[in-house]
Amino acid sequence: MRGGRIAVFLDRDGTVNEEVEFLRTPDQLRLITGAGTAIRSLNDHGILTCIISNQSGVARGFLTEEDLPSIHEKLRNELLHSRARLDKIYYCPHHPAEGKPPYNIVCDCRKPATGMLRRGEEDMGIDLERSFVVGDRIVDVQVGKAVGATTVLVLTGYGRTSVAECIAAGVRPDFTAPSIVEAVDFILRRIHGAHDSST
Ligand SMILES: [Mg+2]
Ligand SMILES: [Zn+2]
Repeated sequence: MRGGRIAVFLDRDGTVNEEVEFLRTPDQLRLITGAGTAIRSLNDHGILTCIISNQSGVARGFLTEEDLPSIHEKLRNELLHSRARLDKIYYCPHHPAEGKPPYNIVCDCRKPATGMLRRGEEDMGIDLERSFVVGDRIVDVQVGKAVGATTVLVLTGYGRTSVAECIAAGVRPDFTAPSIVEAVDFILRRIHGAHDSST
């Protein structure tokens, strides 16, 4: 939506919390160092923050959709220690090939498909072209590019492997950051640089 609000869409595992390969329970969730403060500074600047997470562990039967609310409550509680908040959490429980009905379908929400970004656009009046996608995998970069957003690849989680994957596939993130901390610094510079050439 042109003229809409700016959002930062954050991948969850390996970007906001440590990658543990199919996180199944709240006690497995640990924030990446600095994630709380970084998200808080987006909140303070009036920028929307939304999680967009592929959770094919649901389709694969590693956890159920009913397990996700308590995991996300833990995530929100951890962020609250830094007085940080997420405006929305979107997830895709599907997988095109693996698992059981009703989840083993080709959906429009599994990244790199753009369904979760489109829902954010609709739900919150977001201008996707002025928005940002931050993640540790090639699909995070691809989904951002597909809607004209600015993309940041972080080197936490699977990030280091993703660098080579992106190069091989000719997919170029706008910025590569050691972690969400530097990703948010970059985003704030991008947004404010547009008004203030002295910074
Ligand atoms: Mg990830
Ligand atoms: Zn899906």
